Amino acid sequence: MNPVTVITGGSRGIGAATARRLATEGHHVAIGYRRDHHAAAQVVADIRAHGRHAVAVPADTTDPDQITRLFDAAADLGPVTALINNAGVTSPIGPFTDLRVDDLRHVVDVNLIGYVLCAQQAARRLTRGGAIVNISSAAATLGSPGEYIHYAAVKAATDTLTVGLAKELAPHGIRVNAVAPGIIRTDIHTLSGVPDRAESAAGRVPLGRAGEPDEVAGAVAWLLGPDASYTTGAVLRVAGGL
Ligand code: NAP
Repeated sequence: MNPVTVITGGSRGIGAATARRLATEGHHVAIGYRRDHHAAAQVVADIRAHGRHAVAVPADTTDPDQITRLFDAAADLGPVTALINNAGVTSPIGPFTDLRVDDLRHVVDVNLIGYVLCAQQAARRLTRGGAIVNISSAAATLGSPGEYIHYAAVKAATDTLTVGLAKELAPHGIRVNAVAPGIIRTDIHTLSGVPDRAESAAGRVPLGRAGEPDEVAGAVAWLLGPDASYTTGAVLRVAGGL
């Protein structure tokens, strides 16, 4: 039977690359997204072109009812075997003193509360052999001074969520890991007000360039695969040396 994986924020960026990559490895995929219907439909079409089943569900991860709908739609593809907790946002880059409370609350709502609610759904539904991968960030250990310290702090919470949940679910045969990307070429930087960040920040990356979404997707695929059968509670850094 094919694995069935739920990917939040699967319409663009790292989530979309992961959906396409997992399809090549035999996964049926349910992607959630917030508003980019066209992009979500394109990802579904690409997955189906690989002969896998796919569904796209508008599902804001801050709303528990919409998360339930996403997992119910995934269950129509077969028993759910994995969750990629990926839907995330930043806010405008800038000094800590300029952080607006609405932006702070939105980052916490999507990147922390959303991740916890989705992980809770997965923990209730997954069975032995299941897995969760939380998309964290290298920011969790770098702190992102002058950019978005609040976002970095929430990503550190993602790492703690990963460690705790890995221990709690290990007796049930469910593995929980995180991938911590560095600077990856996606639309997220436009939303933080620096569209060319992949180029402008490349100089501080030891490997000398931003990463591509496919390079993160490969790490996620490894964590879901048989070679990671003894890996749980790990935070796998994919950050070009950052
Ligand atoms: P992205 O290109 O901006 O894509 C974000 C995805 O999340 C989109 O599919 C978007 O849906 C969805 N989304 C946003 N808010 C949502 C919500 N409330 N409910 C459901 N879906 C929502 O971002 P990305 O760069 O691929 O980032 C993916 C993850 O990697 C995030 O957790 C981010 O923090 C993390 N990360 C990214 C980088 C990087 O440099 N890119 C580095 C480290 C970590 P719509 O298209 O419908 O808006």
